[in-house]
Amino acid sequence: MATQRTFSIIKPDATKRNLTGAIAAKFEAAGLRIVASKRIQLTLAQAQSFYGVHSERPFFGELCDFMISEPIVVQVLEGEDAIAKNREVMGATNPADADAGTIRKEYALSIGENSVHGSDAPETAAEEIAFFFSGLELVG
Ligand code: GDP
Repeated sequence: MATQRTFSIIKPDATKRNLTGAIAAKFEAAGLRIVASKRIQLTLAQAQSFYGVHSERPFFGELCDFMISEPIVVQVLEGEDAIAKNREVMGATNPADADAGTIRKEYALSIGENSVHGSDAPETAAEEIAFFFSGLELVG
């Protein structure tokens, strides 16, 4: 598997509890390099657009309100098989189902406030990186 890039969000529940560094350390320990990173405050329109795929789900409103409740840290992670590796380090969506040692097992508060987002496929990774970062912010 070649070197890949994936997109990550450190979500409001984690930035609020000062866990940005602890979560970044998990990525780095797994061999993922943080090649771009910034702390931003999403607008409601941006959250609704980013999570548009979930717009029909019953938790959509709650999810968008949560994502704008505090600043987030958006990052691009690079490494061998980065998309799958990041999903592995994140753990299952619901922290109750997440494996020991994963970010969500250690830090997530609930299925909604689950500390991190990570792209699930190469197409979504490319779209999500482009949603948040300009070419100028991405070092080759
Ligand atoms: P992920 O790829 O593991 O992040 O999971 P999904 O793509 O299925 O869901 C996207 C995000 O929506 C999750 O990370 C949660 O923050 C949120 N979410 C998913 N299921 C629920 C739910 O049942 N309730 C609430 N409140 N939020 C949810």
